Amino acid sequence: MQKITIAIDGFSSTGKSTVAKQLAKHLGYIYVDTGAMYRAVTLFTMQNGWIDNDQFDVASLVTNLDKVTINFKFNPELGFAEVYLNGANVEREIRTLEVSSYVSKVAAIPEVRYQLVKQQQLMGKDKGVVMDGRDIGTVVFPYAELKLFMTASADKRATRRFDELISRGDIVKYEDVLRNVQERDYIDSHREDSPLVKADDAIEIDNSDLTLEAQFQKILSLVNKTLEKLA
Ligand code: C5P
Repeated sequence: MQKITIAIDGFSSTGKSTVAKQLAKHLGYIYVDTGAMYRAVTLFTMQNGWIDNDQFDVASLVTNLDKVTINFKFNPELGFAEVYLNGANVEREIRTLEVSSYVSKVAAIPEVRYQLVKQQQLMGKDKGVVMDGRDIGTVVFPYAELKLFMTASADKRATRRFDELISRGDIVKYEDVLRNVQERDYIDSHREDSPLVKADDAIEIDNSDLTLEAQFQKILSLVNKTLEKLA
């Protein structure tokens, strides 16, 4: 069976990674969470003291980008690949609200994007990949056979992210999570380099009122239609 590239873009916390993981498992494809890569670079920036609420030393980050190695290793217990920064598993650390509060600033730096996009293109070069992010259908894989653009109301998205953080034991306020989701969407959509926009040929999925199963079935039928057209 022919393998395709599935590009999933959209706003923060629209459930991109959930459906991407479901699809990858079902199809036997590789799943690449590109947000995790931008989060790992952000963690590296924080570890070196180059970003906080008052400053962002972009020059130091850019000069030291060659000291960042990001890998994914499949964890069979979890059923997906965890992200490693310079050999250390940082899967948990990169999901904090603190990392979320800086990540869009780091992701707006063209040199950071250039490095990560190159790695992402390499990871997907043999197709059979589901990749989620903000610029997958527009920049990373503009010729992807199937492009999805996910949306949901800001309130639904913040509630989902809030529940996720609370369930893993983080102490956060709903208002802070909502503000972070809105701030990231604004920066991600307005940056100069590779802003978050819907590709002309992407199919929009608003999942505000869809159950996970209904969403999965809807997207799976789009995958099957795409495969039939290519057969
Ligand atoms: O997907 P996730 O919410 O983990 O992404 C974190 C942040 O990384 C986004 O808000 C965005 O700033 C950045 N990002 C990006 N391009 C991608 C994936 C993520 O700019 N392809």
